[in-house]
Amino acid sequence: MIHSTETTSGSATQRVIETEYRYGAHNYKPMPVVLSRGEGVYVWDVEGKQYLDFLSAYSAVSQGHCHPRIVQAMIEQAQRLTLTSRAFYNDRLGECEKYLCEYFGYDKVLMMNSGVEGGETALKLTRKWAYKVKGIPQDQAKTVYAEGNFWGRTLAAISSSTDPSSTNDYGPFMPGYEIVPYNDLNALEDLFRKDPHIAGYMVEPIQGEAGVRVPDEGYLKGVRELCTRYNVLFIADEVQTGIGRTGKRLACDWEGVKPDILVLGKALSGGTMPVSAALADDEIMLTIRPGEHGSTYGGNPLACAVTIEALRVVEDERLADNAQQMGQIFRSRMEALQQQCSLIEQVRGKGLLNAIVINDTEESPTAMQLCLNMMEKGLLCKPTHGNKIRFAPPLVINEAQMDQACSIIEEAFIKFEK
Ligand code: PLP
Repeated sequence: MIHSTETTSGSATQRVIETEYRYGAHNYKPMPVVLSRGEGVYVWDVEGKQYLDFLSAYSAVSQGHCHPRIVQAMIEQAQRLTLTSRAFYNDRLGECEKYLCEYFGYDKVLMMNSGVEGGETALKLTRKWAYKVKGIPQDQAKTVYAEGNFWGRTLAAISSSTDPSSTNDYGPFMPGYEIVPYNDLNALEDLFRKDPHIAGYMVEPIQGEAGVRVPDEGYLKGVRELCTRYNVLFIADEVQTGIGRTGKRLACDWEGVKPDILVLGKALSGGTMPVSAALADDEIMLTIRPGEHGSTYGGNPLACAVTIEALRVVEDERLADNAQQMGQIFRSRMEALQQQCSLIEQVRGKGLLNAIVINDTEESPTAMQLCLNMMEKGLLCKPTHGNKIRFAPPLVINEAQMDQACSIIEEAFIKFEK
């Protein structure tokens, strides 16, 4: 059975899709393309067709597919030592921790694997800090999240979700959570003022999964000020926005604010393996003692080797600056397109994390049809929340490639409008 669209009967594409549908859980509904190779901004399907990847595995492949330096670091380390568990020291973890702390400006780091484990680590740190430092009575600590948040798929993460497709039939949920509207400092202050048991506010500087929702200028600064005033930890979930994606090292850098806990993932490994991290200063990080949190693979030597190289690539290739420049080109082309195209309600984003909001309902198939049309023309992207299309290419994209991509998107919209 083929899903989303028809593909050539009996083709390699169809065989792969059918096998996956037969044996895999149906927890995703991918675009009908089967990828087998990647290099830089390009990926190729099993039929040999080339595409510009405008999703980058949800911003994980920021350094480009199969970056030779990251792959080399991975191979060299894989041939020497991959996993020791934290029962023993390994000769790469300390070096990687030092690199991360100095790079992002924190006393300590705790390394995990997937992004959601980074968020979970931040939440556990917040609760420990609430009881041991802030003095909140046992089991009374609360954490606050923004409406539309997305930080992964575990029960702790979906307990804060306001998206029914994430939460339906998964209850009961984690207690001690509060939700505030995104980009609303008054609502946040009201909550902080009313409830002395609030320990932390976890927030994405730009909401990625919700459709690249960019808060007003000054929002992050306001969050920082309120958190300081009410002695609440400011937890920035930069799993998607971090590491150059928005045109600065961190999206928080746009407003010059330092979160109390910084959560990173995705591009930390350049798309090669799951690596995440929570960074904080000693007052917070040292509330967790030996045996109180961990993961078999967290901080493994392979992840450490890859992480250091992935971050060096971002610096050496000035990928944040490139993201800023290429993002400006993208948005100005798309804003010009908006003038001719009533289908486009809004163009928004920062750096190379952008979205086009389609002038249609969330249930409408328009965004998906546009994505299928772009796929045919050689550009891969996917709708998020029905009527929004996220555009997030690898940060290594150059001007000629961006020009080609914009032309494909323009053609698709203009054709559809007609
Ligand atoms: N936080 C944000 C902002 C994300 O966008 C995501 C994933 O899309 C996560 C956390 C979870 O990361 P992972 O899927 O690696 O668990």
